[in-house]
Amino acid sequence: MNSAHELDYQRRVAATGATRFLPGSTVEIISEAGPRRHPRYAVFDFDGTLSLIREGWPEIMLPMMVAALRETGTSETDAQLAELANGFIMELTGKQTIYQMIRLCDEIRRRGGSPEDPVVYKQRYHDLLMARINSRREALRTGSASAADMLVPGSVEILSGLQQCGVELYLASGTDEQYVREEVELLGLQPFFGRHVYGAVDDYRKFSKQMVIDRILRENQVDGSVLLGFGDGYVEIDNIRQAGGTAIGVASDEAHRSGRPDPWKRDRLIGVGAHIIIPDFQHAAILLRYLRDGV
Ligand SMILES: [Mg+2]
Repeated sequence: MNSAHELDYQRRVAATGATRFLPGSTVEIISEAGPRRHPRYAVFDFDGTLSLIREGWPEIMLPMMVAALRETGTSETDAQLAELANGFIMELTGKQTIYQMIRLCDEIRRRGGSPEDPVVYKQRYHDLLMARINSRREALRTGSASAADMLVPGSVEILSGLQQCGVELYLASGTDEQYVREEVELLGLQPFFGRHVYGAVDDYRKFSKQMVIDRILRENQVDGSVLLGFGDGYVEIDNIRQAGGTAIGVASDEAHRSGRPDPWKRDRLIGVGAHIIIPDFQHAAILLRYLRDGV
């Protein structure tokens, strides 16, 4: 297991003192980043950070897992199985999907069942999810929905603002790369990322967000102080923080786009050291100024 393997969630920051908001904004400063230089590279997570196409995925994954656990003949109730599955789904959220399926297999085995390969469950989940989100993808394709309807508010503003500041943009997603590419295209984000779009591949050991970050630093011969990371999952925030970059946690309210941070995400992202928490990019200009000038 190499260092680029995705670690489980580990809280590194127990509690925070008083935080502050940048004036007139929902940009919450949790801890001031250390001495910082003009940012040159930014890594974005995709689902929940920019894209809302896959919003509601746990509602698909949960019953699929309960059904698989039910087949073991366990005497646990559906409610108990749902609580169990929900617990580990949420615990592992942010890692590649396959890890949730590996855990499902462990739980099936623990109940005396003999699970299929994790890939089989991942495919089953994927087929069910596509049935749900196909109408969204289709609506974008035909133009009956606009990209703005399925983007975290202010996404285009932050991406174009960063680009105008000369920051090179990278996308790294735990979703399979081919779908990430399609959905980037559907949302009109392709011009921002160009060829820098990375996602999960069949051999899950060959991809991680950490690998993308390592490559940016290595190929450009820079250190983490010129790196920004944006994400609603702990993996990218943890990775960026460990690399010495500035970590912006996007505690997005995916279902309602209320403009208020999701409290569960906020707490979890602070726990791995997010410097900044935002509910979305509605105050992109204020955030950009802070990232660029520190004020
Ligand atoms: Mg995400």
